[in-house]
Amino acid sequence: MKIVILLGAPGSGKGTIAGRLAAGDGVFRHVSSGDLLRDAVKRQTAAGVEADGYMKRGELVPDMLVARMVSDLLAQAGGDCTLLLDGFPRTVAQAEMLDATVAASGMALDMAVLLDVPEEILTDRIAGRRICPGCGAGYHVTTIPPRREGVCDVCGALLATRKDDNPETVRNRLAVYRAQTTPLIDFYAARGLLRRVDGTPDADAVTGALRRLLS
Ligand code: AMP
Repeated sequence: MKIVILLGAPGSGKGTIAGRLAAGDGVFRHVSSGDLLRDAVKRQTAAGVEADGYMKRGELVPDMLVARMVSDLLAQAGGDCTLLLDGFPRTVAQAEMLDATVAASGMALDMAVLLDVPEEILTDRIAGRRICPGCGAGYHVTTIPPRREGVCDVCGALLATRKDDNPETVRNRLAVYRAQTTPLIDFYAARGLLRRVDGTPDADAVTGALRRLLS
């Protein structure tokens, strides 16, 4: 099993691109820490109850909480696939926890890919983002519109905006990204694992670029 970390600000397209790669031929598997946490909040598990307030404010949930979720998932994963870690790690402490988990299972990280997108594009993308509360499919009102306005192509549920996509929380999430997550760029560059991909073109083009990089 290969492990690839997707780095990038909120709105850089990590979830969209990883989702498209994973929808292909089973080579890629998408693991989103945000999706795991949203699911835990929805199911009101102990972790979900603890995470809810942090997520509403656009803050990071405590490292241990999310690291435990991801390491449980890694322990169950296996087989001949490439695991795309979307949204984890997000701090140097989480990266060190991931190193320990990966080493303990005799694996290694293959690559950390930074999706590079300027900040003015990020805010635009987040403002137009819609998700399906039913199946989790992601859309954008102009760049990835559903076939019927406001309705999920996959399961027919009514689309919604994410609770943390309001302007104030988005400002906070971008500030948190700059302060707590960008140090990971140097962290992985120093180990020769970092690759940069221009995340500004449309989702098809970026998915193609990533597929070529990972093949
Ligand atoms: P995302 O879907 O990746 O944008 O994540 C949504 C929210 O979930 C973030 O704003 C954080 O509150 C929380 N979250 C997701 N991943 C992590 C992580 N690795 N560490 C801490 N909090 C996280």
